[in-house]
Amino acid sequence: MVIEREANPGELCTCGRDAVTVYSFSGRGEMGWCGLSSALPPVVPCRFCGSDEAHRTAWGDLEKCPRYQLVPAGEMEK
Ligand SMILES: [Zn+2]
Ligand SMILES: [Zn+2]
Repeated sequence: MVIEREANPGELCTCGRDAVTVYSFSGRGEMGWCGLSSALPPVVPCRFCGSDEAHRTAWGDLEKCPRYQLVPAGEMEK
């Protein structure tokens, strides 16, 4: 079951932009969405792991950061 809610300030999309919508997957965490096409390149350097390149799968598709967090650690303290 997926629950959709409005994003709070500081919550991020998998691409690194500010999320407008957050999807909650029961028992499997939450994922933000910026409302833009998922075909858009993610923000670099990566806001989650600092990588200078966008994450891609072995076959070249864009992929979310393995360290993706709805609210990145440390961001709230600034
Ligand atoms: Zn996004
Ligand atoms: Zn990353």
